[in-house]
Amino acid sequence: MSATLEATAPGRFGEYGGAYVPETVVPALNELEHEIPVAMADPLFLEELRGWLTDSAGRPTPMTYAGRLTQRVGGAQIWLKREDLLHTGAHKINNAIGQVLLARRMGKTRIVAETGAGQHGVATATACAALGLRCVVYMGAEDMRRQALNVYKMRLMGAEVREVTTGSQTLTDATAAAIRDWVANVRDTHFVIGSAIGPHPYPVLVRDLQRVIGDEARADGLERWKQLPDVVVACVGGGSNAIGMFTAFIGDADVRLVGAEAAGEGLVCGRNAASLSIGTPGTLHGTLTYLLQDGHGQILPTHSVSAGLDYPGVGPEHAFLKDSRRVEYLAISDGDCLDALKQLCQLEGILPALESSHAVAAAMTQAAGRRPDEIVLVCLSGRGDKDIDTIRARVPELG
Ligand SMILES: *Cc1c(COP(=O)(O)O)cnc(C)c1O
Repeated sequence: MSATLEATAPGRFGEYGGAYVPETVVPALNELEHEIPVAMADPLFLEELRGWLTDSAGRPTPMTYAGRLTQRVGGAQIWLKREDLLHTGAHKINNAIGQVLLARRMGKTRIVAETGAGQHGVATATACAALGLRCVVYMGAEDMRRQALNVYKMRLMGAEVREVTTGSQTLTDATAAAIRDWVANVRDTHFVIGSAIGPHPYPVLVRDLQRVIGDEARADGLERWKQLPDVVVACVGGGSNAIGMFTAFIGDADVRLVGAEAAGEGLVCGRNAASLSIGTPGTLHGTLTYLLQDGHGQILPTHSVSAGLDYPGVGPEHAFLKDSRRVEYLAISDGDCLDALKQLCQLEGILPALESSHAVAAAMTQAAGRRPDEIVLVCLSGRGDKDIDTIRARVPELG
């Protein structure tokens, strides 16, 4: 199915995707594009990847029936795919391990990564420590200040965290710095991107490393329920956990796919990160996709209570899936996200990440009004321990 979705050209999803990069980056992308299919067809590589995912990261992840939440909502059954139970607390480790293994196979000894909130940086530093590669993480000075704990965690894992002081001193500038380092050191260095974004072949590579989420859930579900889920929901920042979840179900026409992006404080300019709901096509970080930009192509400021969804673009495959209407994208506000988070804590004893809480909120809406024999499957992309300070500030009645 994914082959037909990409049928337009390699690395294209309809008109979206591609590789809008300076000449200097092309050889590195070509090397990667050549190596990926070779590695993915090598049973020894796949066995090694599977070994790390099971013995180190904690795969397969369980699926939990949220019985009390289901009862509260009063509709379809809500089931959670528990990526929050993975090592380092989110789905990002699936991609980090896969890419670091790929880098080692390509003879690289050094990894560079970009990070915003620090979750991808921590996952990459962890994979590098376990596999014995040097790790340099670029992070905006502003983000380093806001996410000091993750900076410390990366350093504990042996990574070097380099402060980026250009531009807005956040994720966009850190990404540019990581790419510059990669291009200058491509002989021994691989760039581990953190979501299904960036120039070809990254969106395909990250999707194929994350599709284990949906593959597991689909097989597990068929065994338990003897049917497919009616609705599958995931949150969308760059879109890696969502595309990892959706890919297994894209060919199942009866399964409704729902992506939840961040409406922040509302769908007005500058107060959200809802690039699929109110964005327009343009190029950012090497790919053509929906962006939050002004009439001159200047990227607009974004906001979300959840740092991991606070990105002005989205992976190009999601842009295509929106236009083709195979996936429906909803925007969930900060308030609805926090409400869903509280409900999952108090009814299920599970503290979800703020990102994942957007998916829980969308799932509650989807489940309401459906029959009790229908099934809504949610990707619980990560746990909320990292967000506890933000939550405490936003839910003061419990403090
Ligand atoms: C980073 C992150 C996200 C957003 O990234 P995607 O690439 O859209 O999946 C979602 N959930 C958690 C827990 C994260 O850490």
